[in-house]
Amino acid sequence: MNPRTPAFPSKTPNMGTTIFTVMSALATEKGAVNLGQGFPDFACDPQLLDLVNDAMREGLNQYPPMTGIAPLREAMSAKMQALYGRRYDPVSEITVTAGATQAILTTILAIVHPGDEVIVLEPCYDSYVPNIELAGGVVVRVPLTPGSFRPDFDKIQAAITTKTRAILINSPHNPSGMVWTRDEMLRLQEILDPTNVLLISDEVYEHMVYAPGEHWSAARFEGLAARAFIVSSFGKTYHVTGWKIGTVAAPAPLSAEFRKVHQFNVFTVNTPMQYGLARYMADPRPYLELPAFYQRKRDLFRAGLAQTQFKLLPGEGTYFQCVDISGLSVPEKNLGEAEFCKWLTSEIGVAAIPLSAFYGNGFDQQVVRFCFAKRDETLQLALQRLARL
Ligand code: PMP
Ligand code: GLN
Repeated sequence: MNPRTPAFPSKTPNMGTTIFTVMSALATEKGAVNLGQGFPDFACDPQLLDLVNDAMREGLNQYPPMTGIAPLREAMSAKMQALYGRRYDPVSEITVTAGATQAILTTILAIVHPGDEVIVLEPCYDSYVPNIELAGGVVVRVPLTPGSFRPDFDKIQAAITTKTRAILINSPHNPSGMVWTRDEMLRLQEILDPTNVLLISDEVYEHMVYAPGEHWSAARFEGLAARAFIVSSFGKTYHVTGWKIGTVAAPAPLSAEFRKVHQFNVFTVNTPMQYGLARYMADPRPYLELPAFYQRKRDLFRAGLAQTQFKLLPGEGTYFQCVDISGLSVPEKNLGEAEFCKWLTSEIGVAAIPLSAFYGNGFDQQVVRFCFAKRDETLQLALQRLARL
């Protein structure tokens, strides 16, 4: 016998470890305040924990239906109808997923044939491109307008070909915090109207849009909704990013294709948390109050940063704040965003995420992202450290 691990050609030769994992590990190692990876450092509502606990003790611990438990699909349908004015049939049009990450991967696997083109708007969330590549699709990168991060519709229009299968959009936008306006969604609808292009609308930060802005879900536009997979995440909305539960809402024929892949991907998503969330959703206040909750944190964090040499970029939505580092007096500002973030974590004690991580070519614009989903004390401590720069 010659026991050995066979070598094989990597399917993902250029794929490294996600920047979020890298920066969180460094933050832990250096004891830095972690404003890098996006997650709250405060507890969720104890009532939500009680509801999940109750479900477990009631014995709701076996496989749920493949599409998710009916009460959660019904609660999601009712919420989307109340907020976005469109009825998604909970039986045939809403599927519970293991977070938005799985929702997006499964959607892409379900619709993208080898050689199909998929448009992403850069900077974009770091799972999109590897997902498209894994499906054998061709990634077509269209830049958002530099500086403002607003969609450039001439460029989007020019990127659409007969091979385009889908376009992936994300509003509120990670990493920039930009929120698409109604007019922008209408413009997208107009561009897609004569095409067969499908839309994947990543709306995980839907409840983090700050006044006077509004969330213009693709569900609010008939022409977009008819071709859209709308992705939501309970992790973001209820301060439980580690639970990894989300949904995909899509017209029945699209949901049917999604479910074919979903059933052999994860099959189902954990049962007691689905019951806990479904019961918790009976009260709309937690998500209706979320914008005010995060707006206060955003304002506190921005006010503190305004006292430093970081230049603030707009922050219309999400729990991220981007800053321009070009005005800092330290020489490390010229290291490149990624090295600067490592230095900031190690030497100043605050972790951030380089925007270059959201671009295929590592485009460097001297901008880094902070997450302000943190206790006020955490933000104050970070601000004290950042004020030294
Ligand atoms: N999309 C975006 C834009 C995100 O920021 C995140 C956060 N990780 C996800 C998708 C994935 O969400 P989830 O944790 O529910 O998988
Ligand atoms: N969405 C989170 C962020 O952008 C991180 C999620 C992850 O670690 N993959 O920070």
